[in-house]
Amino acid sequence: TELYLPERPNSMGFDLGHAPTLDRINAARAPFATHQWQAKPQLVATANPAPETPCLAPSDPSDTVGHVQNASLADVETAVQHAAPWNAPLDTRRRVLNAAADLYEQNYGELFALLTREAGKTLLDCVAELREAVDFLRYYAAQATDDTPAGTALCISPWNFPLAIYTGQMAAALAQGNAVLSKPAAQTPLMAHRAAELLHAAGVPPHALQVLPGGAEIGAALTAHPDLNVVAFTGSTATALKIRQSLADNAPATPLIAETGGLNAMIVDSTALPEQAVASIVESAFQSAGQRCSALRCLYVQEDIAPHFTEMLMGAMDSLSTGNPWDLQTDLGPVIDAQARDKIASHIAASDVIHQLPSPNTGTFIAPTLLRVAGIADMQEEIFGPVLHLATFKSHELDAIIDDINATGYGLTFGLHTRIDDRVQHVSDRIKAGNIYVNRNQIGAIVGSQPFGGNGLSGTGPKAGGPDYLLRFRAPVPAHSDG
Ligand code: GLU
Repeated sequence: TELYLPERPNSMGFDLGHAPTLDRINAARAPFATHQWQAKPQLVATANPAPETPCLAPSDPSDTVGHVQNASLADVETAVQHAAPWNAPLDTRRRVLNAAADLYEQNYGELFALLTREAGKTLLDCVAELREAVDFLRYYAAQATDDTPAGTALCISPWNFPLAIYTGQMAAALAQGNAVLSKPAAQTPLMAHRAAELLHAAGVPPHALQVLPGGAEIGAALTAHPDLNVVAFTGSTATALKIRQSLADNAPATPLIAETGGLNAMIVDSTALPEQAVASIVESAFQSAGQRCSALRCLYVQEDIAPHFTEMLMGAMDSLSTGNPWDLQTDLGPVIDAQARDKIASHIAASDVIHQLPSPNTGTFIAPTLLRVAGIADMQEEIFGPVLHLATFKSHELDAIIDDINATGYGLTFGLHTRIDDRVQHVSDRIKAGNIYVNRNQIGAIVGSQPFGGNGLSGTGPKAGGPDYLLRFRAPVPAHSDG
């Protein structure tokens, strides 16, 4: 468990402070406002892709962002056969990954346009995402050693960070010299394709990075392959469990690095600074339209301050605007697709609604929503959107709440707002979460200084962006026989 206080460490990467002004950002992304991208398998051997299908913007189904040709099952076998470790010297690998980071930065206008149109990201999210992707490249390049690689690494990445997490997994594997097979999320193939082009352009050889766009079928064929040496997966807990089963059946010695969901809680006691707590809650629950595995889902407010505090929170929610993510004043873009929207909407319909803002009616939007629950035990599963559940507690119930939070079996992020020093220690000693944040928001871990990852159903470590992450991408150290 890492415990993080409010000061904000510096990112190594792309810095909006010294780089572009808003005018320059607008000018840089404008040429891509109607551009259409293409995605197809990026393999050493000729591919046999599926027919082309259009990719539509979640914020506006009349906006065709591009077209994708998914990989076929035959491509899976060919890709595995042609995968070969990147046996360039460590210095070369470092130089190439840093060159890729430079290319990402130089192409920020295009990458922002693509993130906004394909994944519904607001400008704030685009900046954070590019910065994180660049940080991963530079951080893992710096962390890499000339130890032998594991071999072939399968990277399965999520749509919610289609540039940052996609790049992070691959950067770790490549830094250590592995051959990467990448299966990006089916919702964001265009970003994946473009980023892989930049990695290849920077000098990553084709046999060391092959990309197989596709859905669950391609993912299942890849994870059933016996010739993998490590699998890195970020996505739902349900899919992680399936991958673990598949590896157990087909490649039992292959380690799985899984980073999955959470039922993340925050406790606000009566000594908290209300303005600070409200701002932290709004960011943690609603930024990125709540589509972060780190996002706050269940807020516990001490009963004595709850009426006034809830009024303040609803007032802050009222100032959020949900709509076209290309507009600079938009705080929340869409959720990723109609399936996600319908699932969230039916959860809201079955709940006790305290406050809900109006949603635009084109595109797949859910506006910020506050629901009442008795406690986290009422929550069956992670609802991956801008929906916050509110419960109250009496001061003598603190330990019981901690037990309830731990009893969910998840353990990703946790937030605490209090001015009682002993309580910080007491609570953080007991909460079983990977990342604990005190008197600040609980999203947006910074690569290199805030390693990110959870316990239990939330993941299997090592933490992303931390000093142990590359260990799993090296050949296992043989057991001693001379003991
Ligand atoms: N690393 C991100 C954060 O700290 C969350 C990653 C995810 O949603 O998978 O907010």
